[in-house]
Amino acid sequence: MNNVPVNEIQRFSFDNTNVRGERVLLSSAYQEIIKRQQYPLSIEKLLGEFVAAIALLRDIVKIDGILSIQAKGNGFLSALMTECDENQNLRGIAQWDQAQPVPETISLKEILAGGHLVITISPRNGQRYQGIVEIVGDSLAECLEQYFYQSEQLPSRVWLASDGSQCGGLFLQRLPAEQAKEGDEDAWSRFTQLAATVKEEELLGLETEELLHRLYHEEEVRLYDIKPMQFGCSCSRQRTLDAILSLGTEEVRQLLIEQGSIQADCQFCAEKYEFKEEELLGKLGDQAQTH
Ligand SMILES: [Zn+2]
Repeated sequence: MNNVPVNEIQRFSFDNTNVRGERVLLSSAYQEIIKRQQYPLSIEKLLGEFVAAIALLRDIVKIDGILSIQAKGNGFLSALMTECDENQNLRGIAQWDQAQPVPETISLKEILAGGHLVITISPRNGQRYQGIVEIVGDSLAECLEQYFYQSEQLPSRVWLASDGSQCGGLFLQRLPAEQAKEGDEDAWSRFTQLAATVKEEELLGLETEELLHRLYHEEEVRLYDIKPMQFGCSCSRQRTLDAILSLGTEEVRQLLIEQGSIQADCQFCAEKYEFKEEELLGKLGDQAQTH
């Protein structure tokens, strides 16, 4: 592959079967996320797997809105969050215990000891809902497979990879049987067995068409439109203001007495928001009147 940054997701399906798939590959969009902090390599890689995972998930769930995966635990990592909206804007962040050295290779179970994943779907219109996934196997891919099975009752397989400069993923799902043509009942096991031979360097180094050709050159693969993905933060002055005001009148007044103004930096994109006393006092006045 040439050195042009690839940030894209693409759907595919196999003709005359009930199996569909997705492939995501991210380079600069992922690098934009990890450059915000001095992450240890193992956390950079794990964050990359989460970013690839949210990209896949976002494209599979058919609603307008934001999807997020949050991981919470008691291991080296205290929290990790990644998010993607319907325009393929990605962001993510991890918090870890900087007092202890993080080993170079470590399983998800160890890194998030006793933790779990929270997958949140926040539609533009309507109620948001959350699914909790226990951390079972050794990998995020296994957790996601479990999530898909829990939420959609559809067998799904996921492969994720990340090396600190690129991240990528491959997803296969078996749709309900009525969509399949007769005579190809072993398609699912054949496709998943072939996908299981994928190597990390192929997931990260090959463009989708090339990757699928390598895995499935004897099959009829149908590729859909490529969707570009990018780093993008959903923070705004208004959302930051709302968050500050949600602290409550007393807290905000106290901060103003101590600091004169309130400054809040977005942890995802480093954007700085500053609110002066008169603006905040005005808003607190509005709040007091409407509540
Ligand atoms: Zn931001």
